[in-house]
Amino acid sequence: MGSMDVHLLDRGSMSIDLNYPLEGAVTATESNPNPDAVRADGPVFNLVIEHPDATVLWDTGSHPEAGDGYWPAEIYDAFTHTDASEHDLPTALGERGFSLDDIDAVVQSHLHLDHAGGLRHFAGSEVPIYVHEQELKHAYFGATTGTDSAYILDDFHHDLNWEPLYGDGGYLFEGIDWLHLPGHTPGHTGLLVERNSAEDLLVVGDLAYSSVNYEHEHPMGRDLLHSRQDWWASLRRCKELEKRRALEVVYGHDPEQVAHFPPTF
Ligand SMILES: [Zn+2]
Repeated sequence: MGSMDVHLLDRGSMSIDLNYPLEGAVTATESNPNPDAVRADGPVFNLVIEHPDATVLWDTGSHPEAGDGYWPAEIYDAFTHTDASEHDLPTALGERGFSLDDIDAVVQSHLHLDHAGGLRHFAGSEVPIYVHEQELKHAYFGATTGTDSAYILDDFHHDLNWEPLYGDGGYLFEGIDWLHLPGHTPGHTGLLVERNSAEDLLVVGDLAYSSVNYEHEHPMGRDLLHSRQDWWASLRRCKELEKRRALEVVYGHDPEQVAHFPPTF
């Protein structure tokens, strides 16, 4: 496989309470009974992977009207994405020299509202949308029963060419494998991208919001873990892969990592 250039699409940034990405980050103690809450930045980004057989889009980010009532008010108050409209998908693609028509396949790590908000652009098209079977089922269940407010039905309830992924992992394109990495959500999926002339990538998505979750094995807060047990197992699986080969791990919303990534890597 050649260099398989990977481009970072800037989709803006959310402001969130640090206790979401880092369990117990701000905790009252006897000596400090009223610690100040901390808001942290969580960049939202997508990737375009230039595979010889297909231009692949990884995730589709937030809907541009997230702050205009498209996201439920209480969700937007907690996960505040003020610049979603200026970083909508067509704009972000254009900044890297792509248009929607260039995208041959979409891989959704999961269907949360900061990842699935651009799927509507592929409604009615033949572009395959790869997503884990368990994610698609859980998203519909969560959105239609109101039991999981991180899913918005209008993000994914379109005439889309779904290509469900079944099982633990498998082949997507030559040099690109997908991995079922549940924990954050039941059907959360990562990518392993093999590149000869550049470092291999392990895109873990929201298995790890930041390097702290991954490197220090610090869990995300309870609200961001559908299953803590699955999360640990997925983390172990990734670390086993890393023992066998050098991998650059790409996290879901790490401000330091995103700031240091070149636009194309
Ligand atoms: Zn996310």
